[in-house]
Amino acid sequence: MEIKYEYIVCRYGELVLKGKNRRDFINALLKNTKQTLKEFKALTYEARHDGLYIHLNGEDYGKIKTLLAKVFGFVHFSGAIACEKEIDKIAQVALYLAQNTKAETFKVLARRQDKRFKMTSDEINRAIAGVILKNTMLKVDVHKPQLKLYITIANDLAYLMEEKSPGAGGFPVGINGRALCFLSGGIDSPISAYLTMKKGLRVEFIHFASMPYTSKQALDKVKELAKILAVYEGEAILHIVPFTDLQLAIYEHTDESYAITIMRRMMYRIGDELAKRRHIKLITNGESVGQVASQTIESLDVIAKVADTLVLRPLAMMDKSEIMTLSRNIGTYEVSILPYDDCCTIFEPKNPTTKPKLDKCLYYESKFDYESLINDCLDKIETIKITNEIEDEDIF
Ligand code: ATP
Ligand code: MG
Repeated sequence: MEIKYEYIVCRYGELVLKGKNRRDFINALLKNTKQTLKEFKALTYEARHDGLYIHLNGEDYGKIKTLLAKVFGFVHFSGAIACEKEIDKIAQVALYLAQNTKAETFKVLARRQDKRFKMTSDEINRAIAGVILKNTMLKVDVHKPQLKLYITIANDLAYLMEEKSPGAGGFPVGINGRALCFLSGGIDSPISAYLTMKKGLRVEFIHFASMPYTSKQALDKVKELAKILAVYEGEAILHIVPFTDLQLAIYEHTDESYAITIMRRMMYRIGDELAKRRHIKLITNGESVGQVASQTIESLDVIAKVADTLVLRPLAMMDKSEIMTLSRNIGTYEVSILPYDDCCTIFEPKNPTTKPKLDKCLYYESKFDYESLINDCLDKIETIKITNEIEDEDIF
């Protein structure tokens, strides 16, 4: 029989935080959780010092669980049943949980927040274990129990929980500001966005599109990725930059071996300017050391020199296999591997340099008026809002 939970008890992550930071953390987490679970209208919330208590009021825990696992800031959460703080009533609920489990072994883990409660944690453990042993076939296993029965004696009620679902970890989105994340249709950049959000940054996406060299499907793919990622922050903003004219000019005026380096310097310039205009203090992207010619240390150095805004690369030191595992876990992988061309793949040179020189970049860049082309790109940016349920809509 499926257990009817009444509450969800969600434990906060990053417990090192103290004072005002801790209050901000909890407030942001409460707001984000409400936003993520807004379709479940009957839920009520209580942010306590030891966790966020969500009263289900009849809503379906199973459905909520999937969404809650995507809220950054919780280490884990559990379905809970509450009762008055009387040992007989606690035993009744414990027995109900024990009778509805497939487990064969168990352990009771009681914790008192209300120190006035007459029994010690150890006494509670023994009393409840005794009732379960007497009324079920379950056996005690203190080392590797299949069922861990948690009992929290809080100030108001006793809460009983039997399983801990892993939370998303990290910081609540927004608590550490905003970031502009370069989103291509590949495997890496969605993961860089995910890790950026996990660190508590609200992400805006920027995508460089080279229509008609890249297809509508390629753009739809990027929107689909943004939509999957938007779940973590409620709704996302995607800036689409029409990049074709600038890109054609680069290929006309630079040596082929430098085309990618110059192109990436242009992307960084545009991203940098957009970040400034939107008061965003951080740029992130999916660059990973050594992955391709434009991601050698020499390339990364020469490319990032054009941006004043801080650039962090969440994947810099990760292996492709680690990135792919994350990508499968969060569900972007299947979309990322769809075979539509990105602007980089279409204009890919045969022999890109792996050790670009700054003076050579400056030389090629002096051969054309890239600034007006950049301004043109900025003027023509299309900004759309991506939410999980509503199709995208123009906001500017
Ligand atoms: P990904 O790295 O996402 O798998 P990719 O491998 O095609 O895509 P790279 O050539 O490795 O992209 O580019 C490195 C990073 O530059 C990307 O992770 C992404 O952050 C950014 N980038 C590349 N192309 C674009 C684009 N068209 N629009 C926005 N950002 C881009
Ligand atoms: Mg890549």
